[in-house]
Amino acid sequence: MNEYLKHLERIEFVVTLACTGKCRHCSEGDHESCSGHIDPRIAAEAVRKICGAYPIRTLMTFGGEPLLFPEAVCEIQRTAAELGIGKRQVITNGYFSREPERIEAVARSLADSGVNDLLLSVDAFHQEHIPLDPVFDFAKKAREAGLPVRLQPAWLVSPEDPNPYNTRTREILRSFEPLQIPQNQGNVIFPAGNALKYLAEYFDASTTVSNPYEEEPKNLRTISFGPDGSVLNGNVYQTDILEIMEQYRP
Ligand code: SF4
Repeated sequence: MNEYLKHLERIEFVVTLACTGKCRHCSEGDHESCSGHIDPRIAAEAVRKICGAYPIRTLMTFGGEPLLFPEAVCEIQRTAAELGIGKRQVITNGYFSREPERIEAVARSLADSGVNDLLLSVDAFHQEHIPLDPVFDFAKKAREAGLPVRLQPAWLVSPEDPNPYNTRTREILRSFEPLQIPQNQGNVIFPAGNALKYLAEYFDASTTVSNPYEEEPKNLRTISFGPDGSVLNGNVYQTDILEIMEQYRP
């Protein structure tokens, strides 16, 4: 086992960078020219191989907006469930269609594929461009399909800070009360990508903030795949995942 990966316990897939959102806090910047998604067959095979060698506890699929490609998400999640990975998460903005039938079908297929933690990003930033009605409809249908859903708001400065974005976020969260969906603590926006461009006034330029999503490269707990198959220092479309992992050096 590669000593830099000896604590590996989590697999993440950025399924796509395509997105229905245009959030001003997005750490990935603009998504306008983004399209395509990870090859689910190769992704699922990589999950099988990793699980054969490492005790993986959690798998997450996100984006961009992953539910633009629900078949890819479900194939990866189904594989995770078959392999006994305990926590199987999706983060979504909940807006991939306005069609009630499509929304219901995607909610059902996520439940059937074994997703057991659906994090729904709703807040002032997402709802600046994403309509609330189809998101509410998806949340409702996800609950009806038996999916455990949690609301996952992004806060500016801190959850307690009384800025207008946080005030709007609280209003949006209240509109989900009829569905009685639990609220996750959410995350505080990190100064990167669009957030640095459009929300600079809320960040203290004299303080360096460490990226909460970055791990110590000599002690990775998470292995992350990009939508183009990139992973660690290689690409799973070209090289076997276990070889990439064996050869990984920080
Ligand atoms: S924050 Fe999420 S929903 Fe918003 S633009 Fe970025 S990837 Fe899309």
